[in-house]
Amino acid sequence: MRLRNNPKAYDIMEENADFVILDPESHKGKYHQLFKENKPVFVEIGMGKGDFIYQNALKHPENNYIGIEKFPSVLAAAINKINKQEKLDNLKLMHYDALELLNVFEKGEIDHLFLNFSDPWPKKRHAKRRLTSPDFLNVYRQLLKKDGLIEFKTDNRGLFEYSLQSVTENHYHLDYVSLDLHNSPEAEDNIMTEYERKFSVNGPIYKMILSDTM
Ligand code: SAM
Repeated sequence: MRLRNNPKAYDIMEENADFVILDPESHKGKYHQLFKENKPVFVEIGMGKGDFIYQNALKHPENNYIGIEKFPSVLAAAINKINKQEKLDNLKLMHYDALELLNVFEKGEIDHLFLNFSDPWPKKRHAKRRLTSPDFLNVYRQLLKKDGLIEFKTDNRGLFEYSLQSVTENHYHLDYVSLDLHNSPEAEDNIMTEYERKFSVNGPIYKMILSDTM
């Protein structure tokens, strides 16, 4: 997500400490205590400006949601957007790199992961940066509870094909695959992201749901 660097991004995070997690490592193993009620923890990695996670938290008060974003300026944009809407006590945000998430969550602490329109990193030499590369899949495996699920959506055919191969080689089970989500029966329940709204006019949206077989 390209956004101009916002020099106030860290100030914006601190000013919104009621829903921004400023010291993620200190909550390791205790995330349920951060929320008003102890509920399943759903996490979106690379949440961008946050529409998807906000709408999920609104629609599903039975879960707690954490949106994670690597770039402070993008997180600041999400905070500003969320501040214009109703406050939700089942939604928190944090600035962190997904690759380091084992510093932040205890093993098995997450019930459900979302990866939406992750950066495709088309060059082969950047393949390790894709959020469905083996290193990331290994992190997710440890973070997820037994029977936890990963949902992945993209408009990028190359990334989807790479991911299909990567997840099966790394012993994930494909519980669901769609090559055209918006024209499938699941479209009705689909919550769109900012990218999805913008890019689905150009072609199909691909989706997979994964569980761990190891
Ligand atoms: N999910 C949003 C959507 O669908 O509208 C944003 C998609 S954008 C293409 C990808 C986002 O993932 C960017 O905001 C980027 O900063 C974030 N991201 C990329 N690598 C990440 C990582 N390792 N950890 C956390 N966020 C990451």
